[in-house]
Amino acid sequence: MPQLPTTQATLAQLDAKLIDCRACPRLVNWREQVAASGKRAYAGQQYWARPVPGWGDPQASIVILGLAPAAHGGNRTGRIFTGDRSGDFLFAALHRVGLARLPTSAHAEDGQQLHGVRMMAAVRCAPPANKPSPLERDTCAGWLDAELALLRPRLRVVVALGAFAWRAGLSALARQGIDIPRPRPRFAHAAQVQLGPVTQLASYHPSQQNTFTGVLTPSMLDQVLTTARALATVCLPPAP
Ligand code: SF4
Repeated sequence: MPQLPTTQATLAQLDAKLIDCRACPRLVNWREQVAASGKRAYAGQQYWARPVPGWGDPQASIVILGLAPAAHGGNRTGRIFTGDRSGDFLFAALHRVGLARLPTSAHAEDGQQLHGVRMMAAVRCAPPANKPSPLERDTCAGWLDAELALLRPRLRVVVALGAFAWRAGLSALARQGIDIPRPRPRFAHAAQVQLGPVTQLASYHPSQQNTFTGVLTPSMLDQVLTTARALATVCLPPAP
């Protein structure tokens, strides 16, 4: 099991513990194997090859929840949704709706900033074929719970990207003590469910499989993020 902080840690203390986690042997092996073999386009780059922490505004009222870091994206750059096509699509949308400083997220030192938003993955290490096992999902849930607990006082919106994140978000909010309806609300693009003080919204995942085929268009994602922004507006800076 992961070595979670035993006291009410800060986000920085949580991240410092997280990046040393090796609780899932298959994922540890995969993240390091991918780093060792690399990709021609990233020749010469040192991969992060560790768990990828949540990133963004420590005072966030919006959490964007993904599945897991991409093998050559977050697992390379060390920042979630950074350095891959999914991230390109997502950050462009965040910028259009005023939640990100820049329309791109290329690497960890690129000057990007999120406004009122923190993004994180339900599983913090890149899995083979983007498919963590149920055991790996459950093993990693403690890190998600710990981060959400620290954000909870200001948290108003969870934007779940894809069905895996939708289910993980509901389970995580239930573990925070929030009542979740039974049967559990089902995932659909633009689904919205009020869970106590938190609204969970859904979007199709901005994977190339969805964005290249038009299943998810820029305007569809903009609409979800605009709703998130409106719901969390009390905690956000004025729109630019
Ligand atoms: Fe640790 Fe989560 Fe990575 Fe498993 S997936 S090794 S629990 S950080």
